[in-house]
Amino acid sequence: MTGAILTDNSTLDVDFIIVGVGIMPAIALAEAAGLTIDNGIAVDAFGQTSDPSIWAAGDCASFPYRDTRIRLESVPNAIDQAECVADNIIGAEKPYVAKPWFWSDQYDVKLQIAGLNAGYDRVVARHGEAPRASFWYYQGDTLLAVDAMNDPRGYMTGKRLIEAGYSPDPEVIADPASDPNTLLKAWGSLVAPIADVR
Ligand SMILES: Cc1cc2nc3c(=O)[nH]c(=O)nc-3n(C[C@H](O)[C@H](O)[C@H](O)COP(=O)(O)OP(=O)(O)OC[C@H]3O[C@@H](n4cnc5c(N)ncnc54)[C@H](O)[C@@H]3O)c2cc1C
Repeated sequence: MTGAILTDNSTLDVDFIIVGVGIMPAIALAEAAGLTIDNGIAVDAFGQTSDPSIWAAGDCASFPYRDTRIRLESVPNAIDQAECVADNIIGAEKPYVAKPWFWSDQYDVKLQIAGLNAGYDRVVARHGEAPRASFWYYQGDTLLAVDAMNDPRGYMTGKRLIEAGYSPDPEVIADPASDPNTLLKAWGSLVAPIADVR
């Protein structure tokens, strides 16, 4: 038999199945130390746990992000947060401001993601010459995230716009003829144009 049987016993014809099982952070040691656990080891904006002499960063750490608390499972976050927390351990007192981005190479597809799309209510597709495409996630007029497939320019444009807090007109994004550099130049020196990404 091919297909998927759902919990209500109905079946779906499917070509393939992707299993997203996720991970569980290893918190046994932190629990034994009496640290506060909240979807991983809870840290404050500086990476400090509920015990001021213990710090955490990377996949295991949940930290304040906007008006919520998140855990990011990605190499860029593990590196950036660890560097920030290391600085704080020696007294920098600088909050970690996450700029979520992700990448993965799957056979001939380079997947790059900027931002977090949680809460989106609209996806705008921007198709280039196949297999290049990017998908722009909006909540109202606000650009939340960009998923780019074989489209480093689209990814880099979205990343810079999101980090600068600017949301391009979805109509412009949907037009494959629009130039990403034009979008960046529109905000002048706040968002530098791309010179080095192809
Ligand atoms: C299959 C897979 C594919 C992935 N692909 C990507 C990708 O394409 N791009 C991307 O950005 N990220 C990817 N990730 C996620 C990325 O690997 C993690 O985000 C990153 O490794 C997190 O780094 P970390 O240092 O926080 O944790 P880890 O790399 O998990 O390191 C934690 C270390 O602590 C050790 N440890 C745990 N408990 C204890 C203990 N009590 N005592 C001593 N040591 C302990 C563990 O053994 C481990 O070595 C992938 C992950 C998986 C599993």
